[in-house]
Amino acid sequence: ATPTALLVGTGRGAQLGVLIKGPEVLESTRRVDTIVLDKTGTVTSGRMSLASVHAADGVDEADLLRLAGALEHASEHPVAKAIAEGAAARVGVLPTPESFENDPGLGVHGVVDGHLVVVGRPALLAGWAIEPDARVAASVTAAEAEGRTAVVVAWGGRVRGALTVADAVKPTSADAIARLRSLGLEPILLTGDNETVARRVAAEVGIERVIAEVLPADKADVVARLQGEGRSVAMVGDGVNDAAALAQADLGIAMGTGSDVAIEAADLTLVRGDLLAAVDAIRLSRRTLGIIR
Ligand code: ADP
Ligand code: MG
Repeated sequence: ATPTALLVGTGRGAQLGVLIKGPEVLESTRRVDTIVLDKTGTVTSGRMSLASVHAADGVDEADLLRLAGALEHASEHPVAKAIAEGAAARVGVLPTPESFENDPGLGVHGVVDGHLVVVGRPALLAGWAIEPDARVAASVTAAEAEGRTAVVVAWGGRVRGALTVADAVKPTSADAIARLRSLGLEPILLTGDNETVARRVAAEVGIERVIAEVLPADKADVVARLQGEGRSVAMVGDGVNDAAALAQADLGIAMGTGSDVAIEAADLTLVRGDLLAAVDAIRLSRRTLGIIR
């Protein structure tokens, strides 16, 4: 394409709510055949809310919320925000942790009120000598089957309960995914979240292939593996966790509503965080580069 056509295409992109890093990006946009989508904040709203509280036998619900909420208050993760807000709404002021550590893609741990508290998915707990609780485990399984993300709360070496959070699919996700498919792209859902929850979301928006329970550090490897199969891969994400995968992809697409780190790593930014704008970007690049060769 002529430089003029590329510039016109880039300008048109801005009108459609797509920021394009450079004219050459339109070329990779035209070629992609696979689109990997992050779940939380990309396909779903990412605005989670506390849905249910399951205390183990003999554990006070208020204590469970106070200790878990205090730790999560220090984390930026959507799951953490939901727990901290839900806990504060139910029990009031939360204590300040004496220490705090974030385990990316797994959860958080730290000392609150003299207890070493661990909050996160079961994979995090496996790294600690923590005694499970059968009733709590059953509530976790039931919540996940309904598409809710569950985290386990432990202190004093025992599981003390679980909290579940709910997130909703964005209203335009299913439509956008159907359109991406009709443009010849295969959609793949990629997430650190639990497989059952991921499959529920995928089914809701019409995605068949799911790659779940992937640690943040491994997301870029998943993209590289797909490229190794000869695919030209677009990756859409919003989180700090997605930045390396966005950089690895042939076309990195960031949600404008997401973190600055993701936006910096991407080639395209969907200003309003709406996946339909990705459809517009791909059609635009095909039009721009298809007409003038
Ligand atoms: P995604 O790929 O969906 O953006 P992440 O990789 O950030 O998700 O997180 C994967 C999973 O790890 C979450 O679904 C949650 O179960 C758990 N997790 C991550 N951070 C936290 C946290 N601060 N508190 C509790 N659980 C967490
Ligand atoms: Mg995300």
